Amino acid sequence: MPEQPAQLRLLDDLPELATERPLPRLAVTGLVGYARCPRQCYWDVVERRPRPLRPSARIGSLVHGWIEREAAGQGSLLEESVEPDPWVAELKAAFLASPWVRRRPRAVERPFVLWAGGTTVRGRVDAVYDLEEGCGPAGGLEIVDFKTGRRPAADDGGAGFQLDLYALAAVDCWGREPGALRTTEWYVREGAGLSRDWDGAAVDAVRERLAGLLDAVAAGRFGPVPGSYCARCAHVSACPEGQASAG
Ligand code: SF4
Repeated sequence: MPEQPAQLRLLDDLPELATERPLPRLAVTGLVGYARCPRQCYWDVVERRPRPLRPSARIGSLVHGWIEREAAGQGSLLEESVEPDPWVAELKAAFLASPWVRRRPRAVERPFVLWAGGTTVRGRVDAVYDLEEGCGPAGGLEIVDFKTGRRPAADDGGAGFQLDLYALAAVDCWGREPGALRTTEWYVREGAGLSRDWDGAAVDAVRERLAGLLDAVAAGRFGPVPGSYCARCAHVSACPEGQASAG
């Protein structure tokens, strides 16, 4: 088995910090939810209110399985396999027509742990590729998040924040230079994505935003921030502000 690049070593095994009380932990998805609507985050993460099972979760894990097959050099198996579900078949065709099929990821499902404001933030990056020639400095990385759903609403404060945190993790956890990073959100069904090239100031701004959000979480600020996304929120039936916003 080839040796894993030092900068991408798994961070799961890091020891717990010694403190008098356990540190709160947040997942990247929880923080993205907080950036959108703190109340939604509270109901999801703190109260753990039940949410309807969404088919997108199954689709998401299928797509990640395809990427892993590509990483293992088994892309031809993917092309040959027959998919009975037309929805999934359409998604698979879109994935097979995408530029990612030609590129071999250097890592998939790569976990990280960020420490900020006395809190650990855990996440898992879908795939990491070497930057293509002409797209940045040699040895640079492209961090990709594959999206199987729709693009976020224009007023969604959490839009793009997941990739922002991945860029921060690449710098703070993997020791990468900000100027050698690109992040890409790839919408599989659409066959299109949104890429961002990074620099030190942009990464510092994410670090600052993260600190501010964690301060707000620690202060217990979980008020509603309604928006056009309320219509799709799993908790809208219990949320008067969301119902007013969703009309
Ligand atoms: S319905 Fe809207 S305001 Fe209410 S919790 Fe959900 S996202 Fe927040």
